[in-house]
Order: sequence, then C-alpha cells, then structure tokens
Amino acid sequence: MINALYDKEITCPVCKNIFHTKKVRTSATRVEKRDTDFCTHYIGENPILYNVCVCPMCGYAALESNFGEINATGKKKIEESISRRWVQRSFGEERTVIEAIETYKLALLCSQILANKKGTLANICLRIAWLYRYLHHEKEFEFLTHAVGCFEQAFANEPLPIGNLDEVSLMYLIGELHRMIGNYEEAIEWFGKAISNPAIRGKKKIDTMTREQWKLAKDAFKNKRNQDQVG
Ligand SMILES: [Zn+2]
Repeated sequence: MINALYDKEITCPVCKNIFHTKKVRTSATRVEKRDTDFCTHYIGENPILYNVCVCPMCGYAALESNFGEINATGKKKIEESISRRWVQRSFGEERTVIEAIETYKLALLCSQILANKKGTLANICLRIAWLYRYLHHEKEFEFLTHAVGCFEQAFANEPLPIGNLDEVSLMYLIGELHRMIGNYEEAIEWFGKAISNPAIRGKKKIDTMTREQWKLAKDAFKNKRNQDQVG
C-alpha cells in the first residue's frame, strides 16, 4: 500500500539521538474484527506493529506512549545494561510481525531493567501474545500467561486505569486471559467479580462479553472436571 506509513521524528531521551520511526495513517487501516481479549485484526496496515520506538543508536526501546518517561537513574541503567552491548540497528522502516515482536521484546527488557509498572509490562506482554497469534504460533500462550500475571499484580497494587482499562474492563480481561490459557477456576472468579461490580451496568458491551465468556469458562471447567474423573 502506497503512503500507508509515514515517518515520525523522535528524540531519544537517553542519548539525545534524533531518529525516525514509521506510523500508520488512520486512513490506511480498517478494523476487520476484535478478539475477546481486545486483540484487533486489521485490513491493511497494522498499527500495533509500530507502537514501540527503538533508538537505533543506544538500543533504548519503549511503547511510544511512555518513551519519554525516563529519569536520570533510568538513563544510567539503560546505558549500562543495554547500550554497552547494543549493536546499532534500525527498526525505522516497514516492520514484519517478526520484527515487531523483536521491538516489543526490547521494550519488555528495558521495562524490566527500569522496574516499570506491572501495568506497562502487562500491556507489552499482551501485545507480544497478539503478534504471535497473527502468526498462529504457540508462544502466544506463554505471553498471555505473563500478561495475566502482570495484570493481576497491577490490579492489586497500582492505580487504575491501566492504559485504557478501567476497573471493570480489567477484571473482565484478567478473567478472559485466564480462560484462554485454561485456568477456568480463576476465570470464573474474575468474571464473577466483574459481574458483581456496580460499574458494569454502565458498560453494556463489557457486561455482555463477561456473561458470554463466564458461561464458556463454567462449561469448560465442568468438562475438564468430568474428563479428570473419567481419566
Ligand atoms: Zn538513544
């Protein structure tokens, strides 16, 4: 697609290098469908591939939304743990899904070094899971598992919302991620929490999704229990 991507100029907060990263024009993309964990499938260019900025000079990587959020201590940590070993490499052109996974893994590594909020780690892990899903790769489930663990810690210890997830949406998402990886009891518990939260009444879509996925989780749990008894 011609001109679907454009260059955005970014200044690295760690090394001050100015570089370009691609972004997707809104007009060049259309939503095909959304999965039950909010993973969006696009017709045309996929903006999720371009959400991470990677400085080609020093290797600092983060979601664009918090690329600038790094203090002096953080900069030092990145210089010591990433930049010293970094072989200069640009992610500033069109990205394949595999290349996008590399950018998110770099962002995950930087996020861990910086001891960022669990909510940030959770969002990065969830997107890595989605990218593996586009490839029908089993590693999706490994990253869904990381994501749900981080979301639970964020839910318990960090201020809400997490990104654009308010309390009820996050309860639903934690339940759904548990269901997807086969933790049906946890899924049932989280869907139950979402349903009994009064705020769900103002969220028709989440309310419907929670009830549907809750039923699926309960059925799957029953089947699994029956199978365990037979086996
Ligand atoms: Zn840099």
